Amino acid sequence: MAQRFCEVALPVPLRSTFTYAAPASFNGEELVGRRVVVPFRNRAMVGVGLALSDRALEIAGGKKSIREIVELMDAVPALPPKLIELGQWISRYYVAPIGETMRAMLPPEIEVRHDREYSLTDQGREHLRQLSLSGETSETENVISEFLRRTERCGGAVSAAAARKWFGGEAAVEDLARRGYLQARTVLRKREAPMQKILAWNPANTDSPVKDAESRIKEILTATRGPLPLQILAAKAAVSRAVILRLEKKGRLLAWEEPLTLEEDSWDTDFTPPTNVLNAEQKRALEEIWRWIVAGKFAAALLHGVTGSGKTEVYLGAIEAALSRGKTAIMLVPEIALTLWVGRLVRARFGDRIAVLHSGLPDVERAREWWRVRHGEAKVVVGTRSAAFAPLENVGLIIVDEEQESSYKQEETPRYNARDTAVYRAQLEGAVALLGSATPSLETYHNARAGKYHLLELTSRVENRSLADVRIVDLREEFRSEHRATPVSQSLRSAIQPHLEEGTQAMVLINRRGYSWSLLCRGCGSMIQCQNCSIALTYHKSRQRLECHYCGYSIRPPKECPKCKGEYLYFVGDGAERVEEYLREQFPKARIARLDRDTVRTKREYQQVLGAFAGGEIDILVGTQMVAKGHDFQRVTLVGVVAADLALGRPDFRAAEKTFQLLTQVAGRAGRGELAGEVLVETYHPEHYAIQYAVKQDYVSFYEKEAHFRRMLHYPPFAVLASILIRDRKIENAIRWSRALGGFFAPFENRGVKILGPAAAPLARLRREYRFQFVLKSPQRSALARALGGCLDFCASKHIPETAVIVDVDPASLS
Ligand code: ADP
Ligand code: ZN
Repeated sequence: MAQRFCEVALPVPLRSTFTYAAPASFNGEELVGRRVVVPFRNRAMVGVGLALSDRALEIAGGKKSIREIVELMDAVPALPPKLIELGQWISRYYVAPIGETMRAMLPPEIEVRHDREYSLTDQGREHLRQLSLSGETSETENVISEFLRRTERCGGAVSAAAARKWFGGEAAVEDLARRGYLQARTVLRKREAPMQKILAWNPANTDSPVKDAESRIKEILTATRGPLPLQILAAKAAVSRAVILRLEKKGRLLAWEEPLTLEEDSWDTDFTPPTNVLNAEQKRALEEIWRWIVAGKFAAALLHGVTGSGKTEVYLGAIEAALSRGKTAIMLVPEIALTLWVGRLVRARFGDRIAVLHSGLPDVERAREWWRVRHGEAKVVVGTRSAAFAPLENVGLIIVDEEQESSYKQEETPRYNARDTAVYRAQLEGAVALLGSATPSLETYHNARAGKYHLLELTSRVENRSLADVRIVDLREEFRSEHRATPVSQSLRSAIQPHLEEGTQAMVLINRRGYSWSLLCRGCGSMIQCQNCSIALTYHKSRQRLECHYCGYSIRPPKECPKCKGEYLYFVGDGAERVEEYLREQFPKARIARLDRDTVRTKREYQQVLGAFAGGEIDILVGTQMVAKGHDFQRVTLVGVVAADLALGRPDFRAAEKTFQLLTQVAGRAGRGELAGEVLVETYHPEHYAIQYAVKQDYVSFYEKEAHFRRMLHYPPFAVLASILIRDRKIENAIRWSRALGGFFAPFENRGVKILGPAAAPLARLRREYRFQFVLKSPQRSALARALGGCLDFCASKHIPETAVIVDVDPASLS
């Protein structure tokens, strides 16, 4: 067999792939899609084979030696061919380095650890020889020679951990490396699979238990459960681990080790799904979808259904259609919290054929789910953004629920939008893409109207329940009559009371975390700002900190203004923490909980809060937009939106759209069960069309008005956009590079691309970097692509570092 060469994508911010040779021992092995370990510069790296190549011959002609693939990681290629194609498309379309793009598609690297290792250089060996000739003199020389000697004894290379131990710290070792005696490199080491101890009752043991604890353990292990992992047994029997280990020592328990598995989750197992008979609209939509799936060709459709119209049932029916044709299905949801609800429904319907994938899972768990999918054990994947890359084959259906959500857009490289990626993947796979929403993005609705997507509509709520009754609270009027502003308006406060009395539930949405948005000096008018970012710090009362929500910088609230030394510092703007506190003061008997990123971080915490709310253990749930999305709580009869117009002030062409969507979505949480709902929306801009149409829950009128503005101002969906950000800690660099890029873009003005900028970005400083921005607009994607295509090569030619330029195609926002 001739020597094979392979193009490998490596997780580095470079736009090329790298050529490696396959040693003869890999003959017969598939390399494309395979994870491989290769040497790169001074280290070992995990990459993925993209294609066999003969580029090597040219390079070899040029005398550059070609390095070899060291190892094949898995028994099968991790990526099926369609995913490689998808990755290449993402890399092109979003102008993202191929290696970083492919990395986003691969499973977590749990099998390997990246370790640093030091080896003796020739110079080090020579130095050692000299030292032993000269007879060691000084103290330091002694230490050095001892260290070098030990390194030599270990075959010339030692791990960083050992080196540090011998030689008193990293710095000293690095010092030897700087002097050229040692060479550092990164190596990959295999990691052992984590194990756990399993315990069983020893049947040979016939003595009857002596203690309560022991008989509980016996009962659990023999009568109710069978062998259990140590931790679970301890929890179930309510004993300490020591008690169990003592029984094991006495021979009353048998023990062995097994690879760590996950605890079973009562969230999923103690659940009975609703049994709904589809109504006429749902049936009609589903019949269409069946037809497309049976046809087995690409089709894209928008399922536009008002909140509470039962879109989920249609999704489940569609998944069933795909499975019945022997196909697989992906369902994307915009939030981790929603994977819990939706995952549970899907599991109840389709059993263990489902896998859940999202970034909140620990690596081990995510890798396990990922490989279950890859090996075909799971046929349905429910997940967030990155599940668009689920390694399924034979995909028949991709659902994107709440397709308008900005969480589908990844805000780091590769900056893909999972919705658009899903549509492209459906095209590759000949599958059906089903985008669902009550408030579709302008882009998607535009596509549906233009006939590019099919349009399926659910116009009424299930069982003809009425949409919640929405009222506006005009904060200007409220202030005129009350002469003060409170964290929650008088009107909302008095609306809550009767719901508490009736024992139904309320949700209060405030889309700002923390206690106060900022700390203002009345003396000089300045806000206390982050030292790294041009943004005011948010006050968090429970932690007694002022925090930056962008970079994490935090300080204790100062007693005086850092600028003018004035002592009149005021907290301004109420956040979720303050609203919760205020409601507790106002309704001391009510059971109140808060759901935002400060109160819940893990899956378990989500489950606790959401479970408690669903179970009626909470009367009022305060939260950020996390509470607005998708949830189906049957006993919520009141939804209050505090400061509904927060987003309207932002310099973002999507501000009106986002406000409309958020209000309509959150209003849709009320009155979903048999009880009617009401919604109160607080605002200073009651006349704004986004608020007016949200109150009427009139999507189509909103769309038409907004589309009119977008068309006039050349914004999506009537133009395509890209934002290019140039950043550096030195403002001179950022300016110089921006000028250079301005020169590069200028000629494209005559070729159908409008170039705005460079100008200071809306967030002019972030994490200590100064930021300048270009916005490129074009009526044609091909024209935009031409301008972007050469821009990174241009940067490379001008020695502008890769990391200094961020290209964002189809940005979620410009602010
Ligand atoms: P949305 O369209 O807002 O996503 P959901 O799919 O969450 O709506 O459905 C809202 C509620 O209606 C759920 O509790 C669901 O179980 C119920 N439901 C769905 N279809 C029907 C039906 N045909 N008859 C009665 N209830 C239904
Ligand atoms: Zn900051």
